[in-house]
Amino acid sequence: MKKRKLHNKILALFITFSMLIGGINISMIESKAADEENYAKLLQYSLYFYDANMCGAGVDTNSLLDWRGNCHTDDTISYTRKDGVTLNIDLTGGFHDAGDHVKFGLPESYAAFTLGMSYDTDKAAYEACGQTGHLKNITTYFADYLVKCAVLDANGNVESYCVQVGQGGGGFDHGYWGAPEDQKNDRNNRPIFFTNESEPSTDIVSLSAAALAMQYKNFGGASYLDMSKKLFEYAKNNNKAVNKTASAFYSSSGWEDDYCLAAIMLYNITGESSYLDEYNRYCNEGKATNVWWPYGWDNVAPAVYYYSGKSSELSNIMNTYMNNKNPDGFVCVNDWGSARYNTSMQYTGLLYDKSTGSSTYREWAKSQMSYLLGNNPSNQCYVVGYNEKSAKYPHHRAASGYTGGPKGTTTQAHVLTGALVGGPKNGGAYTDTADDYQCNEVAIDYNATLVAAAAALYTVYSGNGSQSIDANYYNDGNSGNNTGGSSGGTTGGNSGGTTGGNLGQSEAVNFSLLGIYIAGQDRNTITMGACTNLSDVSSLEFSWWACKDGENWIKIQDWTKGNQWITWKPTLFGDFVVVAKVRASGGDGTVLETATNVTHHPYIKGKCQMPYEGEGGGYLIGVESFENPNQSYRYEMLILDCTLLAQGLPAWTYTTGQCGVASGNALWTVWQPQYGYYWTLFRVYDKDGIMLDEACYGFVNAY
Ligand SMILES: [Zn+2]
Repeated sequence: MKKRKLHNKILALFITFSMLIGGINISMIESKAADEENYAKLLQYSLYFYDANMCGAGVDTNSLLDWRGNCHTDDTISYTRKDGVTLNIDLTGGFHDAGDHVKFGLPESYAAFTLGMSYDTDKAAYEACGQTGHLKNITTYFADYLVKCAVLDANGNVESYCVQVGQGGGGFDHGYWGAPEDQKNDRNNRPIFFTNESEPSTDIVSLSAAALAMQYKNFGGASYLDMSKKLFEYAKNNNKAVNKTASAFYSSSGWEDDYCLAAIMLYNITGESSYLDEYNRYCNEGKATNVWWPYGWDNVAPAVYYYSGKSSELSNIMNTYMNNKNPDGFVCVNDWGSARYNTSMQYTGLLYDKSTGSSTYREWAKSQMSYLLGNNPSNQCYVVGYNEKSAKYPHHRAASGYTGGPKGTTTQAHVLTGALVGGPKNGGAYTDTADDYQCNEVAIDYNATLVAAAAALYTVYSGNGSQSIDANYYNDGNSGNNTGGSSGGTTGGNSGGTTGGNLGQSEAVNFSLLGIYIAGQDRNTITMGACTNLSDVSSLEFSWWACKDGENWIKIQDWTKGNQWITWKPTLFGDFVVVAKVRASGGDGTVLETATNVTHHPYIKGKCQMPYEGEGGGYLIGVESFENPNQSYRYEMLILDCTLLAQGLPAWTYTTGQCGVASGNALWTVWQPQYGYYWTLFRVYDKDGIMLDEACYGFVNAY
């Protein structure tokens, strides 16, 4: 016994000594590695690629790069509609695809959606790094172009959609190597393609609808939502098939994933069940939600998972493709543009972590990004202009500054800051040369997941001390020095695996969690506290989560030390399960949790269901909103007959439809129900038909 104790003591001393040595090593590595973990700078730089690839008459005023100017300003075409009316369609704008100048519909809409999704999932990162303005400018420029691509008929419905401007191949755009500003605009050289009945391009039309819905979700703009709905109607009401125009370059394996993404986005925004019906019709068809490939232009199923509340399935994609490793550990699923799939998997893993409240993939994502930023045996950074290890010869016409074709390792005129190059092939081969379009091209789809992974990594690691934006590049007017503390409420996110070292030194904190106390609630905010058995909670950390309708988990607040209270402003309406988690700071990792139900109605002030004494009897039912600006709101009341529902018959037996009211802020109706059991559903919409709030109540007429 005694001997054993002595042994333990020696072991403890040994551990202390090696930790000291380890500590020195770690700090040395960290100062060297800071650049490879500086996600603030990476996010800032990576957005610049879109300034380099901007097209149209708005480049002068929108691009942050002085070496880019307006180009392809006569991307316009005369179009004769089915009703014989001839229109001049303006297709200027958008973004060049890659190192070339074609505008392919699929990566265009994919990049637009993915950048918007990144903002949606990691807003606080953009805010903390001062990048919201830059991101918004880029996604708005995308969205404006996607709107322009629609050809409307006399009734305002989509008759056709532009799926491509320019053409790949040596005889067309790819035969030109030079600045986009100097490219002679020639319709023979830069043809324009539209959908038609035999080629409806359901993939591109749907993904464009999803991108516009995302733009609306992030930044508003009724016209974007309106066009999103119209494009979805077009996809829904026409033949369904993938685009073939671009098949030599972007051959889509299926349209179902794109279609389901548009459907679920529109359902989440509007609450209209017709979109959910379409999602359900196709979500198990084709490649809608199969695990067959990482997130990318050909597979947006991971986004469908995320927005349909099935985030736990993201781990299937991760587990399938994480094994495709090069000998040096870099996960490589394809010779062509491997880094794009690597960054998309980083983002996918971090989405899984975020939505399940786990930390399963964060360290893996961090290590892969570290590899891409130069922490690898070749000392090669795959993001142009990021550090001294960066690739110098991307395959990109505008940046090269020369004409006549790619010229290997000839010095380029401009630094293509923030661009992710293709990356290593299977086995690890990579050469930094403009001639290699597999390893060294750049593209709007590549950078979309670089941006998304950077923002998601920032969200997780904002407190690790390496975060600092570059004062020489764009920020929203923040101090320009976003180190450490300015992480917008996300500090503590990296505390997952940092407590293991204090062997024998952490004092056990005995605590128990008693429940959640709702201290106050109004139409905008809910103030809650997690009750513990301790009067002093300074040694405890709390995090908060919410789940609506059993679907997506929303992180309300990351681990925060010493404060058991939060004030939550839900951005969704409806019924939530709120979960509070508690752990001891520096403790053994034990997490306790408790849950409560919360109902949040930001617009519906109340409802009334009372016997009607007038002629015919029945019930007077009404719904009241808090306000009714300029009498613009629409109200709707619907009745579900539970008896009919149980019999499998159509059960929605009554609706007022969407009604405005001439005065006040309530809608009333008299309803004369049969004997039975019902649900009453009350809804309020804004002037654009967006559902603002919805409340459901049981109703019994069986006494
Ligand atoms: Zn252009």
